[in-house]
Amino acid sequence: MTNIDYAALTKALEKNEFQAQVFETGEECVKFLLETLKPEDEIGMGGSKTIEQTGLYDQLVNAGYTVHWHWRAPKENWREVKDAARQSENYICSANAISMDGKLVNMDGASNRVSAMVFGPRDVYILIGKNKICPDLEAARRRIFDVVSPKIAVMVNYNTPCKKTGKCYDCAMPDRCCRVEVIIHKKPRDVNMHILLIKEDFGF
Ligand code: SF4
Repeated sequence: MTNIDYAALTKALEKNEFQAQVFETGEECVKFLLETLKPEDEIGMGGSKTIEQTGLYDQLVNAGYTVHWHWRAPKENWREVKDAARQSENYICSANAISMDGKLVNMDGASNRVSAMVFGPRDVYILIGKNKICPDLEAARRRIFDVVSPKIAVMVNYNTPCKKTGKCYDCAMPDRCCRVEVIIHKKPRDVNMHILLIKEDFGF
């Protein structure tokens, strides 16, 4: 989307009971998190190109935080690291898409991220680049199949038709990453959910 009305998006998110903030750059967003997160609280992370591109993980670890991120762990330990992430006080991830009426759309293969987002950690911080903002819920849902999953398939080298063509065939492949869709219409009751909007492109 071009000409994004951040004031309108923030208002819509607040109406849906989220806490929303806007940052000019990823650097500003990382600075905010370093100033906000308490050193005594553990941090879990979901798989996220946005997190990787901001350099947040390394900055938190260098500052002395305990961070559980399976993307920085051997694959044989992933289950254990994902469990530790879900049991942390804070969880940081991105969203696959957000609609201008303030709804978050996410699709997972393993579901560690979508489950941790909605129940488990006390505070959930969701970093969202401007490329993830869609005009409405239907466009946000389509974004998963048209943009996100084909790119994930290329990144992870999944054997799916979208990896080869860039198009979704609603496949039945064992490598299918579109398995669990979670749409967050309103903030889940027992979670402090912080939406951090960044006015730059991040992730896909
Ligand atoms: S359903 Fe299959 S083909 Fe469609 S985007 Fe997901 S992984 Fe790709």
